[in-house]
Amino acid sequence: MTTISEWYGSLVFNDVVMQDRLPKATYRELSKTTKEGKPLNLEVANVVAHAMKEWAIELGATHYTHWFQPLTGITSEKHDSFVDPQTNGKALLSFSGKELIQGEPDASSFPSGGIRATFEARGYTAWDPTSYAFIKDGVLCVPTAFVSYTGEALDKKTPLLRSMDAIAREAKRVLALFGKEVSQVATTVGPEQEYFLIKQEDYNERLDLIMTGRTLFGADPVKGQELEEHYFGAVRPTVKRFMEELNEELWKLGIPATTEHNEVAPAQHELAPVFLTTNAAVDANLLTMELMRKIASHHKLVCLQHEKPFEGINGNGKHNNWSISADGANLLDPGSTPFDNLQFLVFLTAVIKAVDEYQGLLRMSVASAGNDHRLGANEAPPAIISIFLGDELETVVFDIIESKAHISTGDVTMDLGVPTLPTFIKDNTDRNRTSPFAFTGNKFEFRMAGGEVNLSDANMILNTIVAKALADYADALEGSTDFEGDTKAYLKKALTSHQRIIFNGDNYAAEWPIEAEKRGLANYKSTPEAVQQYVTPEAIELFERFAVLSKGEIEARYEVKLEHYSKKINIEGLVTARMARARFLPAIIEYSTTVAASVASKKEVSEALDTSAEEDLLAALTGGINTISKNVVVLEEAIKAAAEVEDSLENARAYLTKVIPAMNAVRAAVDEMEILVGHDYWPVPTYNHILFYT
Ligand code: ADP
Ligand code: MG
Repeated sequence: MTTISEWYGSLVFNDVVMQDRLPKATYRELSKTTKEGKPLNLEVANVVAHAMKEWAIELGATHYTHWFQPLTGITSEKHDSFVDPQTNGKALLSFSGKELIQGEPDASSFPSGGIRATFEARGYTAWDPTSYAFIKDGVLCVPTAFVSYTGEALDKKTPLLRSMDAIAREAKRVLALFGKEVSQVATTVGPEQEYFLIKQEDYNERLDLIMTGRTLFGADPVKGQELEEHYFGAVRPTVKRFMEELNEELWKLGIPATTEHNEVAPAQHELAPVFLTTNAAVDANLLTMELMRKIASHHKLVCLQHEKPFEGINGNGKHNNWSISADGANLLDPGSTPFDNLQFLVFLTAVIKAVDEYQGLLRMSVASAGNDHRLGANEAPPAIISIFLGDELETVVFDIIESKAHISTGDVTMDLGVPTLPTFIKDNTDRNRTSPFAFTGNKFEFRMAGGEVNLSDANMILNTIVAKALADYADALEGSTDFEGDTKAYLKKALTSHQRIIFNGDNYAAEWPIEAEKRGLANYKSTPEAVQQYVTPEAIELFERFAVLSKGEIEARYEVKLEHYSKKINIEGLVTARMARARFLPAIIEYSTTVAASVASKKEVSEALDTSAEEDLLAALTGGINTISKNVVVLEEAIKAAAEVEDSLENARAYLTKVIPAMNAVRAAVDEMEILVGHDYWPVPTYNHILFYT
């Protein structure tokens, strides 16, 4: 295999392979399942499984696994070999339809938020035939959903698939009103993944990076990102080799990585793939993240995907580009005829209405201990959700609200009676980088998601809330005798009541939170606050109505999120205390002893020698030692007290309000010492060292 096109997708059991290897009838049956959501029967599954196994063995696979996404957010797999020992001492290689369709991982150690305790102890994985199987490290990976025996979702994928059904159903109702019969409606996602690459030797020296994925200590580097020289700059040779290998592996897996560049922060990079159907896009992103971590190690590098690996330096985000398409046509594309424009405005308005009505849920979907460092800091959007439309589209929207007969944007004038949108909306280059939710020509870009997050949650919420808004429109319009008139009236009303969510200004500006509060927009600053939005009566009603999550499933997820948050902060607190005691205090003490010895020996030579500078340094170091020691005691007590709080919400709040400030105090005292202590005495690599390598 020589050219990219020959090996692109070579490790994927994709449509081409299926057409090639499956009997025609089987392929047709399977297509009905993947394209139209029809259930699959066991006979078809048996034939597919056999073909899949033969294909995988030819490519060197020996095992298979059901690949799934438990509530931890990362992916899980348990390998089983194809080997089926026979009584004659030989073995056959087998893989049955049943093994393809259903698996039983030992589920007891995955978080369930209490679901399995109350219902049924076991869970099973079920094949998701809409996401292709692939080979990774000699293992045939079958993407699956993970559910309990009583049908509760135990994973992130199941509700995502349900939400895709919900939005497809409601979008079809809307399209039917426009006289369109479509067979497949799907949401699409293209996630832009940010990450840092640092040297393995530096990483290995830092317990904080190893245990928590971020540095819990570190004074600002002498040079940060102020020169903005790293952005789109030339890629380091080591990084270039990493990117080449990564691209090659991703392409073999049929993951269309297209863009790669340096980010704003030193040592930071970004990868963007071509968009895919949402569930496949989420799978691909998880695989990409995993491959990044693995391939980094081939180059003596470590890939950091945490939302905030370095204080004072931009963190890792993951922009979730989202749209919705019907039989391949993008429904958020303004189109060129008046009728298409009206349809576009209906979908656009649905998104605006949905985001305004369910700001809290959207914010919740990206809440995590790590992301709390990004949102609201001066690099990422604030925790307030608003929508950026761009000047032209905003004018259109406000003209609808004000019932202007004609709207004009720049040189273009259009008659609202026959609304044709200015075509340049599509190539809108006015990109507001500070907006958390921006319309970018033919898709929305949700920019709040963190680098480490599994995007299932955010897209599950997006799909569900937009499904609700589309349903509202369909409910209002079905049976209308004046379709265009009623639609325009509906748009005017909906846009009027939700205009507060539209904001074209600078989201980083100090005035914005004040203005947003006046508008009544939500501002959930921390995870414990945001997560409560999951369990409001409105949220539960929404999820139950669209059969995305049951009340029990929601409550379970809520518990898991809170628990995860508390555990993360607990670990960070423990590592902070441990590093302060075991690493930093001994180093500062050692250095201060050297300084003290210097003062003493000089005084011995002559009392007349001026040792005031060294004495000042000694006093500062001793002061630092005392402050750090005191702060560590406070931190240890805060951790102990937090751990004793039983109620999960109060527990998370204790970590937020007691442990985090105590950690910050230890860090501040240590960072102050970092710039005083001699380089050779400092026990861990500093930001200067980690971020600026060649
Ligand atoms: P930008 O430069 O504004 O970030 P790009 O065109 O480079 O925009 O796209 C960024 C990401 O958006 C890519 O991953 C791309 O695949 C994705 N994208 C483009 N169109 C769509 C769409 N219709 N649905 C979902 N994602 C999309
Ligand atoms: Mg982008």
